[in-house]
Amino acid sequence: MAVRFKKSKKIGKYGRINLSKSGVGASIGVPGFRVSVSPDGKIRRTVSIPGTGIYDTKVVGSAKPEAHKAKQAPKRACQACGRAAGQKDVFCRYCGARLL
Ligand SMILES: [Zn+2]
Repeated sequence: MAVRFKKSKKIGKYGRINLSKSGVGASIGVPGFRVSVSPDGKIRRTVSIPGTGIYDTKVVGSAKPEAHKAKQAPKRACQACGRAAGQKDVFCRYCGARLL
């Protein structure tokens, strides 16, 4: 069973900290314009017209570019010698240790 929780806390007049199962995010903004960082490091800006429900949101960057890269191509490394190992290697090509 998955336990979910979501909590947000106001920081000052314009800021907000969002706590969720996936991590901590934060946002800052005024009515009509908001910039937020999600737990996965994505930076989004949201522009809205207050009172209309019309809004536009767009990912404008990442606070964790290296994490994003790691997600695309997870790097394996030999636990014995620390050198890079191929995705499908069973044994380290440098020291011969069995890879995890
Ligand atoms: Zn090795």
